[in-house]
Formats: sequence, structure tokens, C-alpha cells
Amino acid sequence: KGQGKGRQVVFDDRMDQRSADQARLAADLRCALDTDQLHLLYQPIVEMPDGTLAGVEALVRWTHPERGPIGPAVFIPAAERTGLIVPLGAWILEQACRQAVRWQEELGAAAPRTVSVNVSARQLREAGFAFEVAAVLGRTGLPPHVLTVEVTETAVFDGGTALEELEAIAALGVKIALDDFGTGHSSLGLLRTCPADVLKVDKSFVDDVTTDGPQTVVVAALIGICDGMRLRAVAEGVETAGQAAKLHELGYRYAQGYFYSRPLPAEAIATYAPAHQPALRHPAATP
Ligand code: C2E
Ligand code: MG
Ligand code: MG
Ligand code: MG
Repeated sequence: KGQGKGRQVVFDDRMDQRSADQARLAADLRCALDTDQLHLLYQPIVEMPDGTLAGVEALVRWTHPERGPIGPAVFIPAAERTGLIVPLGAWILEQACRQAVRWQEELGAAAPRTVSVNVSARQLREAGFAFEVAAVLGRTGLPPHVLTVEVTETAVFDGGTALEELEAIAALGVKIALDDFGTGHSSLGLLRTCPADVLKVDKSFVDDVTTDGPQTVVVAALIGICDGMRLRAVAEGVETAGQAAKLHELGYRYAQGYFYSRPLPAEAIATYAPAHQPALRHPAATP
């Protein structure tokens, strides 16, 4: 089906192998959830040009007992196909919210101001997803405005009740970010109808931003759109000082990428956050 409609292909051993691998992966993942093989890392989202901490994005990691680390780009699609993403996503959301509360207790005003959690199309399609978000906020005591839910344009376009769920989530006070923007439908109409607060410009545009080619034009146009629509633009996958400088010159304030920091364990964020606070701009007037 992936090769187009109305085609016939010979089912060969390799395909058999592949679907067996997929089934195996899904079975292992089901077990991973119950046996502590999953954990979250958190990647800083910073404010340019000084690199102060604006927030963090939770990114799931799986250490397979035999195969070692498996990236989310491999197992999230498998989890989506099998529906396992629903319990997996619920676990991720709860972990991230708990951690956000822990940072607030530990670090006070120096805690990350927002914690972003990726939500897949399948989760968003699930009736009552907004209800689950509200329940997690209630259980953990996290103030809604600290949570950001990251969804892709494609997930919102998925139809069904995705948009209604997002509206219900936004009504809770939770922030919505459109992830990987530019790689999906990238409809300007969506920006009008979707209750988004943040637009994350995909790494593929950031990669070539210094070449002053078509990607630069897109990146420059997007900041204009975001400013006009009161969306916060975040540049994803910033890897070099040159890219950071160019993005700042184009008017970007927020960035995320290896140039600033790789995804870090929660304990490392507890050190990173206090060290990346804005300098006191109004020193106390008392002598
Ligand atoms: P994403 O949400 O766009 O996350 C950003 C990805 O880019 C992360 O990959 C991050 O490690 C990587 N990245 C950040 N800065 C740089 C950089 O400067 N250079 C390069 N080359 N990469 C950079 P990761 O953690 O492998 O996640 C890949 C994707 O898997 C995510 O893309 C997201 O779509 C999905 N994912 C990750 N965690 C979760 C999760 O908890 N739930 C769901 N549903 N999806 C997740
Ligand atoms: Mg994301
Ligand atoms: Mg992204
Ligand atoms: Mg991306």
C-alpha cells in the first residue's frame, strides 16, 4: 500500500522478516513500559542571543536489554501503529509533569518556565485526550501554563476531533506548539484556526539558513508570520554559532539545538537551569 494504490507486489522473505521485527519490537516495547527500560531526557530551549533557559522539551529514550539504545524515530512509529502509543504517551506525559513539579520545588524561580511534551496524532485522535491532560495536571499539581503540548501540523490535519481536543487543552491554559513546521501541510489557514502559541521551525530549514538561499527566505518569512500572529517562533536543530547568529539577525528569539545543549537527564537540567538564568536587569536599588 505504501507504494501506491492498485499495485501488486511479491511478498518476499525480507518483508516477512521486517514485519516479524516490527511485531517483536512492539512486544518488547509493551514489556519496556512495565520494566523501567524507558526514561526521559530534556533538551533546553533557549532565548537568544545570550542562551538563557526558556524551557525544556521532554524526549523519550529506550534502553533495550539486548539491543541497547533505540531511538524514538524507530519505536514511536511502531508504537503508533500498534496503538501502544496511547499508554506510552500517557506515561510520558505523567513523568514529564512530575519532573516539572520536582524542578519547581527544587529550583523555585530558576526552574524551566515550560516543559514541552510531544503528543502523536494517534493520542490526539483518542477521545478524551484533553480530559486526560486535565487529570494529569490535577494529579501532579503542575500549573497548566507550565505545560506545552507539541503536535505536528499533520496530526492536527488528521481530521476527526484533533482540533476540538486541542481547543479543550488550550482552554485549560496549556500551551500548544506546532512541531516540525514546514514539513507537513504548512497551511496558513491552520495557523488561524489552530489555537497554537508556539511554532517550531523544522531543522531542515535551519540547516541551510546561512546560505541565503530559498530556506533562508522561508525562515525569514515565518518569523514575520509568527510576529504578526503573536506566535512564538522556535528554531529547531541549531548546531552552529553561524546559524544562531543568522536566526537572531532575522528576528528569532528562541532556539533549540546541539549548539546550545544536547538532551540532558533531569538531574543535569537542575544544574543547567540555575546557570542559564537571565542576568538581573534591574539590580536592587537598595544600597
Ligand atoms: P522532535 O519533537 O522534533 O524533537 C527534536 C529531535 O531533534 C530530537 O530527536 C532531538 O534530540 C533532535 N535534535 C535536537 N537538536 C538537534 C540538533 O542540533 N541536531 C540534530 N541532528 N538533532 C537535534 P529525538 O529525541 O531522536 O526524537 C525524534 C522525534 O521522535 C521527535 O522529534 C519526536 O517527533 C519523536 N519523539 C521523541 N520523544 C517523543 C515522545 O515522548 N512522544 C512522542 N509522541 N514522540 C516523541
Ligand atoms: Mg518536539
Ligand atoms: Mg520538533
Ligand atoms: Mg523536528
